[in-house]
Amino acid sequence: MEAKKIVIIGGVAGGASAAARARRLSEETEIILLERGPYVSFANCGLPYHIGGEIADRDRLLVTTPEQLRTRFRIDVRTRNEVTAIDPEKKEVEIKNLESGEVYRESYDSLVLSPGAEPIRPPIPGIDNPNVLSLRNMEDMDRIIQALDGKTHAALIGGGYIGLEMAEALRRRGVGTTLIELAPQVMGPADPEMVSILHQELTLNGVDLRLGTSVTGFSESAKGLKLALSSGETLETGVAILAIGVRPETALAKAAGLELGPRGGIKVNDRMQTSDENIYAVGDAVEVIDFVTRQPALIPLAGPANRQGRIAADNIFVRDSRYKDTQGTAICKVFNLAIGMTGLSEKAARRAGIAFEKIYVHPSSHASYYPGSASLSIKMLFDPQSGKVLGAQAVGADGVDKRIDVFAVAIRAGLTVYDLEELELSYAPPFGSAKDPVNFAGFVAANVLRGDVKLCQVEDIINPAPHSKLLDVRTTEEVAAGTIPGSKNIPIDELRDRLDELSKEKEYLVFCRVGVRGYLACRMLTQNGFNCRNLTGGYITYQRTTGISVDEMPEDHKPGSDSDYEDVKKEPTMKLVKTINACGQQCPGPILQLKNALDELKEGEAVCITATDPGFVADVPAWCNTTGHELASIEPAEKGAYRATVIKRAHAAGGIPMSGKRAMTNVVFCNDFDKAMAAFIIANGAVSAGYEVTLFFTFWGINILRKSGPVVAKKNLIEKMFGIMMPKGANKLPLSKMNMAGMGLAMIKGIMKHKNVMTLQELIAQAKFSGVKLVVCTMSMDLMGIKREELIDGVEEGGVAMYIDHLSRSGANLFIS
Ligand code: FAD
Repeated sequence: MEAKKIVIIGGVAGGASAAARARRLSEETEIILLERGPYVSFANCGLPYHIGGEIADRDRLLVTTPEQLRTRFRIDVRTRNEVTAIDPEKKEVEIKNLESGEVYRESYDSLVLSPGAEPIRPPIPGIDNPNVLSLRNMEDMDRIIQALDGKTHAALIGGGYIGLEMAEALRRRGVGTTLIELAPQVMGPADPEMVSILHQELTLNGVDLRLGTSVTGFSESAKGLKLALSSGETLETGVAILAIGVRPETALAKAAGLELGPRGGIKVNDRMQTSDENIYAVGDAVEVIDFVTRQPALIPLAGPANRQGRIAADNIFVRDSRYKDTQGTAICKVFNLAIGMTGLSEKAARRAGIAFEKIYVHPSSHASYYPGSASLSIKMLFDPQSGKVLGAQAVGADGVDKRIDVFAVAIRAGLTVYDLEELELSYAPPFGSAKDPVNFAGFVAANVLRGDVKLCQVEDIINPAPHSKLLDVRTTEEVAAGTIPGSKNIPIDELRDRLDELSKEKEYLVFCRVGVRGYLACRMLTQNGFNCRNLTGGYITYQRTTGISVDEMPEDHKPGSDSDYEDVKKEPTMKLVKTINACGQQCPGPILQLKNALDELKEGEAVCITATDPGFVADVPAWCNTTGHELASIEPAEKGAYRATVIKRAHAAGGIPMSGKRAMTNVVFCNDFDKAMAAFIIANGAVSAGYEVTLFFTFWGINILRKSGPVVAKKNLIEKMFGIMMPKGANKLPLSKMNMAGMGLAMIKGIMKHKNVMTLQELIAQAKFSGVKLVVCTMSMDLMGIKREELIDGVEEGGVAMYIDHLSRSGANLFIS
């Protein structure tokens, strides 16, 4: 093979891989690796873990040194040398030696670009403040560690995987952490119901999570930095770390006339060749084809960068090596949990207009009787006709990596859900189950495709058909910890004997905790001539979709809610008499154990219970609220477990409000002026009569709480159109009858003024002043595209679980529609 001269720009993931592969293919070739930073081949993926202290030795991040590359691979490594221009005509690059300032040129036969992607820094006022940092390389990491010295608080901006890893790193350093995320969820590529448990995990670990919030400005302050937030609040902090995404470094390529793709990355063919046949490009800077959607995409991950570097080198040496697209297989550790994904998410499928069916399963990560097992939640998308696996997401404390990797291979190999049923996967109790969670996902999906059971999704429950009825087949103990409003409870073991309570005219939306008993119930019902569907993923999926009750914990029970961000532990006034280890057990196991233990205790004595089921965190406060026992604390424990301490209260019984106060919870569903007036008149009246009042605004009702003036909120086209069409606040509501293009409304307002009736705005202000809780339904906000910043101050966000919790303490409930 003829000797060649290869120049490579960028000496980390893609560049170093290309260089090493090129040397393995040719001993004669001259290989020059140009890197503008002081290091090559460092582990950028490991940077957050050195900041957090897990990787104590900084040098461990330097996977290969320039000396090792020179000695072992005879690569001419030039660090602190930046390529400033490419001349494709002359096949030369212009280089600046950043140490000496010398500018020189170097010729090439083949050029490989692997310049990576740079952190996005939007033009926010004050962003150039030296305490606003980002994390891409070793120098950034050193700067962050130095900046954190002596600081008690840091703000993270962006809840993607770097933001999440940094949140854990900061908390490990004992630094108070606020994570600000513009979207209503962290980990943007995943579906919202799969990440709601991460929100809980972050909060439990002391991270002050501000979703739906953006930073509008940075300024200097006594503590270091002051952040202005879109919510109107300000945040004092020591350091701000931006992690809002990356942008491909394409300036060199663009200036050299290389073609860019529609997503803004360097365009390459499957040989990693750019529009110039002598120039290859790899890694974060290039645009790839999404393996499932077949559409161009930017997917900045280390695995693809490394493989592409190798493929570019192969092709330089005329080996026919092709890059077979990117499916976005990724995993991220978030304190005790991990979230992994591969292929299509539901969001991505909808965006791409790809037909899909979805199922959820929540099995144990390994045999539940063997220590250390934890609940693993999996969502799988598949083609509704062929059953081909399209995507999977998994979240849990154990076993996420193994399952996501199996799904990744299944997608790559074009396997169907029927193939998943057949996969022979390794099993012994410490590692899995005889029916592995992946097999299990296959069984559930294949049952649907074979017509053994009809699927019901949470969306069908939120918008039920008129003839449908919810049937909860869990035990009464499970129901005590929360259920779906309006459901009828017949435990599965009683169902055969109680079929006469059901009607053949109705369609039953059946649910249990995870979907297994629901499936059995559906088989039983179908064979008895009833019409039914099974809620996939059961009540757990419902809870994760509609809200998570760590938000509903009393403030002082939330870990990390102390204002100084120090780990102050409250000393509860109680006598701890029993500890229970319920790790590995699924609900209702831990709740039943808790109940039985408390039954044996006296007033004021307490039980400390540890469980690994993440749903336990939501169940315990709900169960305590329902029964009247007192939740003293709930916190993360070792190895992905959660520990709750509950104090026995003698008056405890189902449904007794703990405060002993009378309560009223009303749902406000519509945005008619007269009905809004009625809602606030009743609320003000009830609060003055000593009631605790909650108004739960859902769907159109949310418009009552919108601000009237212009609000800057990031919205897509449909959300903007919706926003324009819907009334903006209390002053813009129509009358439900005789509105007559606003004439009726003007008349009624005139009469109200004449008769000295308070205006709606005054009633709202009075209600807030008197302590009426105004809660907006987050799911409805999301559906209608209403953002937090559009709402008046003093409004809380919540899900159905929160509503049910308030309802369980209420003696009266009105639906104002
Ligand atoms: P990089 O590895 O960024 O290398 C590009 C290099 O090119 C840089 O060192 C830059 O200095 C140099 N360069 C740029 N322009 C020039 C020029 N003109 N002249 C000379 N040199 C130049 N991915 C995962 O899959 N899993 C993870 O867990 C993960 N964690 C991450 C954590 C962090 C904090 C970061 C920052 C990234 C993480 N990634 C992770 C992403 C992964 O590191 C990247 O996808 C991968 O490094 C991309 O490789 P690359 O070669 O394209 O770019």
